[in-house]
Amino acid sequence: MSDTSSPDINPKYAWRELARADGLKRPAADRLADFLEVYGHYDEATAREQAMRCVQCPDPLCVTGCPLGNRIPEWMALTAEGHFSEAAAVLHSQTNLPEITARFCPSDRLCEALCILDGKAQPISIRTIEQFLNEYAFAHGESEMAAVAPNGLTVAVVGAGPGGLACADALSRRGYAITVFDWRLVAGGLLVSGTPAFRLEKSIVERRIEMLRKHGVTFRLGAKLGEDFTCAELRDDFDAIYLGFGARKVRDLDLPGRNLAGVDQALTLLLQAQAALTGDGGRIQVSGKRVVVLGGGDMAMDCLRTALRLGAREVVCAYRRDAANLPGAHSEYENAIEEGARFIFQAAPMAVLGNDLGQVTGVRLLRTELGGAGAGGRRPFRAVAGTEFDVTTDFVFLALGFEPVPLPNDSLFSALSLNDKNGIAVDENQMTNIPGVFAGGDVVHGPSTVLEVVRDARRAARGIEAHLADQRVTRPRLAATVLGGSQ
Ligand SMILES: Cc1cc2nc3c(=O)[nH]c(=O)nc-3n(C[C@H](O)[C@H](O)[C@H](O)COP(=O)(O)OP(=O)(O)OC[C@H]3O[C@@H](n4cnc5c(N)ncnc54)[C@H](O)[C@@H]3O)c2cc1C
Ligand code: SF4
Repeated sequence: MSDTSSPDINPKYAWRELARADGLKRPAADRLADFLEVYGHYDEATAREQAMRCVQCPDPLCVTGCPLGNRIPEWMALTAEGHFSEAAAVLHSQTNLPEITARFCPSDRLCEALCILDGKAQPISIRTIEQFLNEYAFAHGESEMAAVAPNGLTVAVVGAGPGGLACADALSRRGYAITVFDWRLVAGGLLVSGTPAFRLEKSIVERRIEMLRKHGVTFRLGAKLGEDFTCAELRDDFDAIYLGFGARKVRDLDLPGRNLAGVDQALTLLLQAQAALTGDGGRIQVSGKRVVVLGGGDMAMDCLRTALRLGAREVVCAYRRDAANLPGAHSEYENAIEEGARFIFQAAPMAVLGNDLGQVTGVRLLRTELGGAGAGGRRPFRAVAGTEFDVTTDFVFLALGFEPVPLPNDSLFSALSLNDKNGIAVDENQMTNIPGVFAGGDVVHGPSTVLEVVRDARRAARGIEAHLADQRVTRPRLAATVLGGSQ
């Protein structure tokens, strides 16, 4: 436990006396020279001071704004008193991947946007304090998973993305024997394959996977559902199944010039950049070139910032709405601007322009007008005829999000009900229409957020527990050799 003496500040008015401390960012010029993370962590004194700014609202709006129901005021109070281990324990009781949710959470649109101080003073730096607590807990060995007696029940988790990992973590802590299957050779899903390391260094995900392995979770990598094993086999061999195999079918855009050389998916550049960090080369070379990214979400920001790190000479984002309607975290937009990206707002793509060699030379955009607040708070837009303009570029990257993947070739899937987004339909416990088969994350919603993915996994873990308690199922464990794949 840490020192509990208070710094020399009147806690009642700390929010007035102390400014919010931002400034833990590495300078943009340094960031552009590598793929390392952007943010540093508070030291203990700063974490305490910043937590002290929280006024402990009786009806905390910050909690209402968190999809995981993070008990923010409780761990703020403990942090302010210097009880960091206890604070981390409260924080960790609401999420299974705290070090990842804290990095990916668009807090400036959720808890921090709703913080009561916003308007009177700058909101509490909830996300940064959260990151401090996570690293404190890891550094002091307090994130280790406590040994638990096996309960004799087995669960197959398909997909080692954040959803699969969170579900494995939640169930493994309850004594279930978990086997996680993934067709890739590296666990972590989009967190590892698509997200740039400056957002999340891969060692952070590896640390979590190592903890799960040490706790007895088995990873069968290189094993593809629909090819190396079937859902029906899993049903025979496990007591329950969690499907978390994501939705990695990128949206395309049917534009004139779509097939010109130099038009690619943003995810392709991101995957290539990640692979390059581990030594593989890549076919897309943006160094010294001009780049336009179409879209405004997290993937667009990551693509802009990756292109800048790869040496692109000019990097422009064209988005149909305005800055206030960008779907991702505002902080990532600010980071992109600091690093040199330029934004053209209220511009919809009409065509990609090319030369006689079939290479991209530009993109034609059309101005848009925004209407009043629409469903979900985002404003609808309408293209304005006669406002076309061209932007010269060598590359166009599409960052338009994901759609549910066609379900793997598996006889059981023909019996699964789908929802209106073409994802797998689930009930309030994440159970599909097939008893004992649960699903969550992007495979249910299409593109979503890590917070929602972890929330689904936690719900499913509770649902599986309740379902198996009802069924009183006691089936033999799957023989490890049945399904193949590497450990
Ligand atoms: C560039 C980018 C930036 C993002 N930024 C953010 C952000 O800032 N904040 C945020 O909250 N979210 C962000 N997201 C979204 C977030 O990464 C996803 O919502 C999340 O990873 C989905 O988790 P999942 O576990 O459902 O699926 P995934 O992460 O897609 O994992 C699914 C896993 O299933 C495996 N799999 C697929 N098919 C099979 C099969 N047939 N057999 C076996 N295994 C299979 C895959 O290999 C994969 O490992 C971003 C996504 C991208 C691409
Ligand atoms: S809304 Fe802000 S001040 Fe109130 S409890 Fe939450 S973090 Fe603290």
